[in-house]
Amino acid sequence: MRAGPLGAGESVLLIDRKERRYLITLRTGGSSDLRGGRLAHDQVIGTPEGRYVVTTRGEKFLMVRPTLADFVLEMPRGAQIIYPKDLSVILLAADIYPGAAVLEAGTGSGALTMALLRAVGPSGRVYSYEVRDEFASTARKNIEKYLGIRDELVMRAQDIYVGIPDRPLDRIVLDVPEPWRVVEHATVALREGGILLSYLPTVPQTVEFVTMLRRSSKFGMIETTETLLRPWNIEGQSVRPAHRMVAHTAFITSARRIEGRGPLPERPDDRDEDEARGREQ
Ligand code: SAH
Repeated sequence: MRAGPLGAGESVLLIDRKERRYLITLRTGGSSDLRGGRLAHDQVIGTPEGRYVVTTRGEKFLMVRPTLADFVLEMPRGAQIIYPKDLSVILLAADIYPGAAVLEAGTGSGALTMALLRAVGPSGRVYSYEVRDEFASTARKNIEKYLGIRDELVMRAQDIYVGIPDRPLDRIVLDVPEPWRVVEHATVALREGGILLSYLPTVPQTVEFVTMLRRSSKFGMIETTETLLRPWNIEGQSVRPAHRMVAHTAFITSARRIEGRGPLPERPDDRDEDEARGREQ
């Protein structure tokens, strides 16, 4: 993603008057067929984004560089991606900061990898584990197409349930089906104060993960959220929520790696008070 005139090798998003989207890669001497018309790439290489272009059939398209959200929704997928509404929340819930050493698993199609790479910046590190080679190679292509070759990315064919060879880590972000199998390894690999976050589609998975975090006693400040993002329609008198929305993707659970403690002293009268308070609300 750059500013200035569009260059060869860059991806651009073309949007027609019905707001249909086409993602193409500009090549010197190349061309794209768009709805029965042709667009010669040399005609747009060297021009600024945010302009209208016209195909040989006379159809107009708005041409912009894709945002990260645009790109992940249009790019080829191996595994199901994490949607932009959740990527946004993950970056702050896991507090991904410039220079951080972050581990994610699995790489999947690379949507989260890209969000992490942008957030840690060139002084950071993103370790990304994936057990399926074909997914890793699709992800690598996607990442390189959008962000170029990034030295701060380390991709490994590593099963995260077996172990975490990279350490120490500031953050761990999981998008695997059985994250409770990672808690033990994360305890060793994550520095104290570090954050472990897991993205899970169902309630039973989330409960099993939280139960394991509690049992380990090396994690505190455990929080689970879900994010509902409702788009609105604003056109003339029609000012209302969109008719359709994505109702459910996943639950996000985060926890801080803390000093291990023994079982907390528990006074039964405290618990009674808490319960009484809960009933009043
Ligand atoms: N977050 C990704 C999607 C990940 S889908 C994105 O935004 O594009 C889950 C991925 O985890 C799949 O590709 C799957 O092959 C991988 N996976 C499952 N179990 C794993 C394990 N134990 N270790 C590493 N990767 C695993």
